Amino acid sequence: MGAAAEKNNIVNAMSVDVEDYFQVSAFEDHIKRSDWNELPCRVSANMERVLELFADKNVHATFFVLGWIAERYPEIVRNIVAAGHELASHGYDHRRVTQLDRKKFTDDVTRTKKLLEDLSGTGVSGYRAPSYSINGSNLWALDALLETGHKYSSSIYPIKHDLYGMPEAPRFPFHHNGGGLVEIPVSTVQVFARQLPCGGGGYFRLAPYWLSKLAIQRVNESERQSTIFYFHPWEIDPDQPRQQVSAKARFRHYVNLRRMQGKLAALLSDFSWNRVDSVYREYLN
Ligand SMILES: [Zn+2]
Repeated sequence: MGAAAEKNNIVNAMSVDVEDYFQVSAFEDHIKRSDWNELPCRVSANMERVLELFADKNVHATFFVLGWIAERYPEIVRNIVAAGHELASHGYDHRRVTQLDRKKFTDDVTRTKKLLEDLSGTGVSGYRAPSYSINGSNLWALDALLETGHKYSSSIYPIKHDLYGMPEAPRFPFHHNGGGLVEIPVSTVQVFARQLPCGGGGYFRLAPYWLSKLAIQRVNESERQSTIFYFHPWEIDPDQPRQQVSAKARFRHYVNLRRMQGKLAALLSDFSWNRVDSVYREYLN
């Protein structure tokens, strides 16, 4: 047998949430938004490495970009589009949907979509809520996204978690309210009666690579479904300035940063990947 096993024939969706290390919800109580301008930004250099990694592996992906980042680093937006990736929205300044009312949310996503479209000259149809903050308590957000010209959201995590999650949500893409906006939940794998995350984030950094690989294979091969995976540019940056936060937040943010780039490279080689709007085009047309 050769060293490289055959890939299965399912194409999975690769996505990146473009934000800097100080903008994550876990640091929200510790770093004020008004301090963001004073902190050393690392997202530009990290994005160069992300784009290089995708170019090396010949992978196209979807980038959910914060408006705050796009405004300050327009070259990030231009480089994403120039490399053939999909540009999408992560909202303006990482306010969770659970912290907004419908009016404020509508303003946030309208402003960000227009900003990204003006900077890039391309349409933006996808949105991901900061910290997967759409759940059973605010499904009106999916209606608001449709009204503001979005076609899909990837904002629900169908798991139980202390900070987010909607365990009763469908595990695979669905039209909200029948014919409405398409929601593409982050991937989970069914193990006995439980749904476990297999779509990236801290879980991917924490678990051994073989386990993540097995979980994605299982969804692809047993359920004949694509998975959708996500990570952040700061996850491949072990030298980022360390924050003095709670032990739990520290563990979640910093665990295995040094191994991340190698794991990602393996993941990109072991499966077929494409942009979200391409993998799920049958739902979006
Ligand atoms: Zn985010």
